[in-house]
Amino acid sequence: MKELDTLMRNFIYDSNGRGGKKIKRTALCKPKEEGGIDLKNCVEWNKALTFKHMWALESKQESLWIKLFILWLAFWKRLNNPDRISMYMNIPDVSCLICNENEETIDHLFGSCSIALENWDKFSRSLELIIFPKEWKEIKEATLIKAKGNKFATNVFKCGFGAVVYNIWQECNARVYERTRRSVEELWRDIVSDCGAIA
Ligand SMILES: [Zn+2]
Repeated sequence: MKELDTLMRNFIYDSNGRGGKKIKRTALCKPKEEGGIDLKNCVEWNKALTFKHMWALESKQESLWIKLFILWLAFWKRLNNPDRISMYMNIPDVSCLICNENEETIDHLFGSCSIALENWDKFSRSLELIIFPKEWKEIKEATLIKAKGNKFATNVFKCGFGAVVYNIWQECNARVYERTRRSVEELWRDIVSDCGAIA
């Protein structure tokens, strides 16, 4: 859980421990009722996140934790994508629900899948990032460097990055459990709105 701690700290705090959002690091370890994520239950959370009822979020606080948690799982390849589930359970189809063209792995979903490519393109254009990688592994590496510090632009980057990852994952789940689908435009609008910007 050390990586979770570091990643979350990078995403929540500035690197000097000053400023940032007013969330105490220790809050991560608090029980959920007190606004934390209860790290002891991380495994259970991961399982629960694949079920529909988890998407009906009750509070902004809870929603923030879930976004950070999904980000962490995506970073460390612990999201329950079909390729991962198929290691311990027989599932008939491991193809990507978004493009139907590739096996749905984390690397694919957040990197080479059309939904990722189009949204990262919008993301990098909006932030005027001249060079932005196309592979998930490289995107992560670039992000760990870019997410350091607490400059205004860095925080905009972190917020946008988290929103892209969260919305791609949520879209994938919505297609399975809700039988709904958003277009790239609709997804991007939700990403922008998640960041509190005016679409
Ligand atoms: Zn795909």
